[in-house]
Amino acid sequence: MLITQNSRLKTQNSLGAFLLKCYLDSMTDLASAHIYVHIPFCRSKCGYCDFNSYSGLSQLIPDYVAALVEEMAFRAPAEPVKIETVYFGGGTPSLLEPEDVGCVLEACRREFGMAPHAEVTLEANPGTISPGLLAQLREAGVNRLSLGVQSFDDRALKLLGRIHSGEKARGAFLMTRQAGFANVNLDLMYGLPRQTLPTWESDLARALELQPEHLSLYCLTIEDDTRLGRSVAKGDVPFPDPDLAADMYLLAEDRLEAAGYEHYEISNWARPGMACRHNLSCWRNEPYLGFGAGAHSCASGFRFSNVMRPEEYIARLRAPAASGDYAGLGPAVDKAEAIDRDLEMAETMILGLRLTAGVSLGAFAERYGVDAVKMYDAHVTELTRLGLLERASRSLRLTRRGRLLGNEVFSRFLAG
Ligand code: SF4
Repeated sequence: MLITQNSRLKTQNSLGAFLLKCYLDSMTDLASAHIYVHIPFCRSKCGYCDFNSYSGLSQLIPDYVAALVEEMAFRAPAEPVKIETVYFGGGTPSLLEPEDVGCVLEACRREFGMAPHAEVTLEANPGTISPGLLAQLREAGVNRLSLGVQSFDDRALKLLGRIHSGEKARGAFLMTRQAGFANVNLDLMYGLPRQTLPTWESDLARALELQPEHLSLYCLTIEDDTRLGRSVAKGDVPFPDPDLAADMYLLAEDRLEAAGYEHYEISNWARPGMACRHNLSCWRNEPYLGFGAGAHSCASGFRFSNVMRPEEYIARLRAPAASGDYAGLGPAVDKAEAIDRDLEMAETMILGLRLTAGVSLGAFAERYGVDAVKMYDAHVTELTRLGLLERASRSLRLTRRGRLLGNEVFSRFLAG
């Protein structure tokens, strides 16, 4: 069931009250929660990017930060919950002033309550940081950085439309160490047009030289409505070879394992004990609260999302009454969707199978009162026969081949 603010909620007070009750119940039920803060501003738009991010709007940042603080106050629970992780994603969160980051974190503490040793991650573009900024971000409470390196190869960076060079990315990583960050992730991309196995191998080697605690490796998806997508459609840039991308993934698995990284999720590797706690909570399908333009939240049987444009987000938080107070979910909320139990179980399977450890059968049974293997018997049998899924002692997980064909596996569970 999908509900949009402009259609049903404004007119159906009973449904609105129901949603409000669900939200408040979910907040009361939460022993702990995770917060995502979306920062939709970028210095310029990368050629491949279809995220909810905008260039040329950075003059809105002060008002946007004020709106984030307002939204947190609006959605604060009656009793504090323990916020275990906060994740500033974007966009380019490193465009914020450290005082702005501190102000948002203070609102998290004040309105929700922060667990001791909470993980606070901020995504940073290597082209936007300086030693001073990093030192102040640490002081503000950020204890984990995720650097969007994407590649160390300048030709690839140019093709992607990134604002930094490979050398600048390397320098940015060294800066994070000088500033005292002991938990740093590097994002790299593979499956790029004109990328070869040797250039990818060199990217991996240069990343490993730096010894980050965490590596996220993403295969490029060519989106139609992007500069790169249009260049590919015109034939100016070749479409990347999917078989070569698969070889790149397998090469990364070998190299990173040999370097001592644990492959704990399809696209993520970490030093032992350094997996990203925020993302782990997403893959375990735990409740999360999203703030900012286009941010999603999911708790207690409902998923809801905010308006996409930052200008509209700010306007709604400035004048909540005029925005029609979205049934207590907050004036920025634009859509809400009920997640029934079957869908939630399927999503728990799909997200959990992304983890190398797989879906814990005990945890699934405890959460839903059913045996996952019996529940999805036909899919489990078929996918096991195809060599994509395997049963470990107390879990169900993807095989190495299954990790390459994850979407094939996931679609089965969504089909019912
Ligand atoms: S920096 Fe990230 S969010 Fe911004 S345009 Fe580039 S890929 Fe998109």
